[in-house]
Amino acid sequence: GQKVVLITGCSSGIGLRIAVLLAKDEKKRYHVIATMRDLKKKDKLVEAAGDAYGQTLMLLPLDVCSDESVKQCINSVKDRHIDILINNAGVGLLGPVESISMEDMKRVFETNFFGVVRMIKEVMPDMKKRRAGHIVVMSSVMGLQGVVFNDVYTASKFAMEGFCESMAVQLLKFNVHLSMIEPGPVHTEFETKMMEDVAKMEYPGADADTVRYFKDVYLPSSKDIFEAMGQTPEDIAKCTKKVIESSNPRFRNLTNSLYTPIVAMKYADETGGLSVNTFYNLLFNFGPLMHITMSILKCLTCSCLRRRTVSPN
Ligand code: NAD
Repeated sequence: GQKVVLITGCSSGIGLRIAVLLAKDEKKRYHVIATMRDLKKKDKLVEAAGDAYGQTLMLLPLDVCSDESVKQCINSVKDRHIDILINNAGVGLLGPVESISMEDMKRVFETNFFGVVRMIKEVMPDMKKRRAGHIVVMSSVMGLQGVVFNDVYTASKFAMEGFCESMAVQLLKFNVHLSMIEPGPVHTEFETKMMEDVAKMEYPGADADTVRYFKDVYLPSSKDIFEAMGQTPEDIAKCTKKVIESSNPRFRNLTNSLYTPIVAMKYADETGGLSVNTFYNLLFNFGPLMHITMSILKCLTCSCLRRRTVSPN
């Protein structure tokens, strides 16, 4: 029979593309429950789904930050039966820590960390009872390696990875699989939204040097890296489909082979010096000279630093 897949955060980006790709499966193997905070934002998804809408794809409201909303949503699913849960909803946060309010930091954790915990807590007991199920979490390369000026976002993904690494062990005993997808940069509204937020920011509390490093050194480098290495949301959707269709799904799934050196450095030097110094040099010694930075990044992608990825093709 059809597998019931519930996905969070489907009004845009990666979540929208996963929902559409699974709903359009040629063999109609999936019944997709695409959820979003605000159903008023459904138009882009409905349009992209075409004929699948109302057939293999249905919509439900769900805010991962609300106990009530999560409970209500899962209770409205027939027999509360979900075969595959895809935790995709997430928010970014960029900038000097001095100028970000504690409130805003907590909001990122509320979505990226507690949002995932809340979903798993609600769906896992039924999966355990049935001794079947697959939980997928949209992590990031930043769930494995810290990145300057992404301090709090990175921490929220690290927290989630720690939670999942611990959960995966007991879930396996119940024949429930857990997988994390770890993309590098992806061209979505995520990137646009963050850049817009950053442009609006006035950086209260941050000194002039820090603001300059952020605006004039980090931001242009980050833009170049997105342009040179970014994947599309479709790529990530294809990787995700591969992971859920695997007979023995992997726990960690990097998606971008150009980006894996960043992770490899961490495992190549257990003191952490290699990562910290490489990032330091990239940013402060080469940052303003982008062509040099890019050629160094290309060197870094030599085969010895490649890690196994799940490819979209
Ligand atoms: P996006 O902003 O297009 O999508 C995120 C979605 O989550 C949006 O539709 C948003 O409305 C939704 N959302 C936010 N808060 C929510 C809440 N409380 N309840 C329900 N939905 C909520 O960005 P995206 O790039 O598609 O991001 C999807 C996931 O991929 C995120 O978890 C993000 O951390 C991760 N990711 C993104 C990138 C990237 O470069 N874009 C890289 C690695 C990982």
